[in-house]
Amino acid sequence: MESYILKTSEIILKGKNRKYFEKILIENLKNKLKDNLISIQNLGGEFLVETENDLLDKLKTILGISKIVKVEKLENLEDVINFLKKYDSIKLKVKRADKDYPLTSKEIYERIKKELKEKIDKKGRELILEYRKGIFYAGEAHRGFGGLPVGSSGKGIVLLSTGFDSPVASFLMMKRGLKLYFLHFHSYPQISIEDIEKAKDLVKILNEYNIGSILYLINILEIQKFYFSNIPSKYLVIFYRRTMFRLASRLAKELNCGCIITGENLGQVASQTLENMKTIENATNLLVLRPLIGFNKEEIISLAEIIGTKRISEKPGEDCCSLFIPKSPATKAKLSEILEIEDKIKEKLFELEDFAFENKEKIVYH
Ligand code: ATP
Ligand code: MG
Repeated sequence: MESYILKTSEIILKGKNRKYFEKILIENLKNKLKDNLISIQNLGGEFLVETENDLLDKLKTILGISKIVKVEKLENLEDVINFLKKYDSIKLKVKRADKDYPLTSKEIYERIKKELKEKIDKKGRELILEYRKGIFYAGEAHRGFGGLPVGSSGKGIVLLSTGFDSPVASFLMMKRGLKLYFLHFHSYPQISIEDIEKAKDLVKILNEYNIGSILYLINILEIQKFYFSNIPSKYLVIFYRRTMFRLASRLAKELNCGCIITGENLGQVASQTLENMKTIENATNLLVLRPLIGFNKEEIISLAEIIGTKRISEKPGEDCCSLFIPKSPATKAKLSEILEIEDKIKEKLFELEDFAFENKEKIVYH
């Protein structure tokens, strides 16, 4: 059996709403740890979790947890000192949670320091010692991602492409408590099956943080062909994106989601200027969240590395948006002009969109 003390940072600050966040975190722990879970005890802003096997890596992916302490249960201070002896240098944090122990936290710390003077070091390994109801819990602290538990802020739909950005945007929003559904548009067979495989692999990784992911796949090839022969090529990306936003809004309605999330980033490509983002966004009434808007590409890629999506995103591959695109797409698409063109083609266009939406595929992750 393994024991862990899990610390939260933001949940503690939630006052009257704390119970709500704690309840969701407990549900998420049960969902993620499954049969391996023996017990969860709420210690008030932190949790004592007991499991069959070592699940440290799994616990690190559960959002809302800021620190994971893999603890040994020890009977007395002598055992604690012996336990700590195996470390070369330690940064020790002591907490006496129950006052039935005669020494205060500070006195416990001083006692240990007296014995292990040469090991105590502010730059050493962080070790946590907590006294609770006759037991000392001691162990190494590991960092979690913190934030809020998935599901505590509502639900959203991610426009998931297969580059670096949208998977990182997904992670950032899950870390703020959104439960996510994923929507990927493709142009199979014009674009290889690898693109779809990449999207599936990305959701597999993102599902380690999310709860119960579903990936929806919509084939927009016929819509793209229709655009290609009906609108100026400099506007193609704008029209593709407006279609994406319209279909995402329909899915959001079905799934009761309050927002659309994209990996858009100001100035990164032609479709991500202020004017174009505004023109694209006009296709939906939903709130659009762009958590990466102010990030630099290196910052995005280093986060992709940390969360594990980089190795998938960096594989070569083509996205459906690269189909039929000219070398110099419009950077300032005027909404009035776009709406005027759209109005002329909308009957056939919306028919094609209906067809694409009704034929969407659905992949459920556990
Ligand atoms: P990414 O790295 O996420 O692919 P990007 O830098 O390639 O982003 P664009 O291709 O301009 O940027 O796409 C901007 C955003 O539009 C993406 O982050 C994503 O949210 C959405 N998007 C683009 N292509 C698709 C697609 N095929 N399916 C779903 N959403 C998409
Ligand atoms: Mg892309």
